[in-house]
Amino acid sequence: MAKPSNADWLARSQSAVWHPCTQMQHHAQTGTPGHLPLVPIARGQGAWLYDFDDKRYLDGISSWWTNLFGHANPRINAALRDQLETLEHVMLAGFTHQPVVELSERLSALTGGALGHAFYASDGASATEIALKMSFHYWRNIGRPEKAEFLCLQGSYHGETVGALAVTDVAIFKDAYAPLVRAATVIPSPDFRQAEAGESPADVARRAAAALETHLEKHGENIAALIVEPLVQGAAGMAMYDPEYLRLARQLCDRYEVHLICDEIAVGCGRTGTFFAHEQAEIRPDLMCLSKGISGGYLPLSIVLSSDTIYNAFLDDSVTRAFLHSHSYTGNPLACRAALATLDIFLSDDVLTVNRKKAQKMESALAPQTDHPQVKNLRQRGMIAAFDVETADPHFSRKFYRAALEREALIRPIGNTVYLMPPYIVSDEEIEHLGTAISGALNDALIE
Ligand SMILES: *Cc1c(COP(=O)(O)O)cnc(C)c1O
Repeated sequence: MAKPSNADWLARSQSAVWHPCTQMQHHAQTGTPGHLPLVPIARGQGAWLYDFDDKRYLDGISSWWTNLFGHANPRINAALRDQLETLEHVMLAGFTHQPVVELSERLSALTGGALGHAFYASDGASATEIALKMSFHYWRNIGRPEKAEFLCLQGSYHGETVGALAVTDVAIFKDAYAPLVRAATVIPSPDFRQAEAGESPADVARRAAAALETHLEKHGENIAALIVEPLVQGAAGMAMYDPEYLRLARQLCDRYEVHLICDEIAVGCGRTGTFFAHEQAEIRPDLMCLSKGISGGYLPLSIVLSSDTIYNAFLDDSVTRAFLHSHSYTGNPLACRAALATLDIFLSDDVLTVNRKKAQKMESALAPQTDHPQVKNLRQRGMIAAFDVETADPHFSRKFYRAALEREALIRPIGNTVYLMPPYIVSDEEIEHLGTAISGALNDALIE
């Protein structure tokens, strides 16, 4: 039988698979400015993905920010093979197992014991829902049921299930479903691109915190929690902000008795330079959501870590005061084992230290772009680098994406924001490859 080609898989996928975050018709419009290519992947190795026609693509965005240590990582593969032979799954209600216990203990230790109780689910949006429900239920359990509202930042993204959309402020994901959603209050973002003349990023952070304070003064009595993406608002287009905002938000949340939920789904696991992004503000949240990179990009896994105070408020003889939330695959042993193998790599390879050099390399790979008259706001936080492109072309992001694929790079802009978020195993040469692909793709996309 002939080896299947890209064309075979393309046709079959287009007819049978409904792809996420995609206008399926764009896949069919070959040769038009709006065409979105569909790339069948045969295998992955390190930072590279290979299609069925032996073309390769450097994964510049870690496959939607999940893959930390490359595809087919030998150490994670070995851990998973071992786990597969031992225990693939057991329900977590009434049962427990080694990977879930060890992972919970290690995550607690990574928060200095501040968040010592790990609740499990499979995807990021579920972690958001769990954190919101826990916060709401905590206030009810302690006799303050009026604290039932949530705050989120302008441009926030916390997932796309109906509950998570309540705290997501991205119009293309939210507007169509607005009638289904019990929307949270959106407060100003500390995004430093909003600086007025003479303002530093810390000034923008203080101005946004002042707006939070004004809101809490009036409505704090009814607010359960503020949810934030610490330091970088990913889906907003890598909006970055000063840690000062988190320090002030922590103080205000304490003063007005509001939980601070840190959604570290994208920025956790070393992405911004510290293991958790909130560490850069020297604070701790009351609840923290993790997913994406925690399993090394191998298996769906999400975790909500909570403080003793929150956990203890659920302890009672009554079942209705318990947190009854569950998913079938909660605490899946394979996913937990992938996470343990991922944490092992952080320790054995001193990843946070090594990443500092790689982040510098990313900075120099993107620096030449600032000469381009349409490139604005080049910015970076650890292993995330981004810039905005000034263009009125509604097809820019797809044109750029296609042009980058032609240059053996997977770089998928968010609107007019081009960003790099590579796996941590990326080499200096591979970072240069991404830089070259970006400048070429930028020229192609802007003249095409
Ligand atoms: C991706 C993401 C989510 C949602 O995670 P899913 O697994 O896609 O549901 C939530 N919050 C942030 C900050 C994210 O980046």
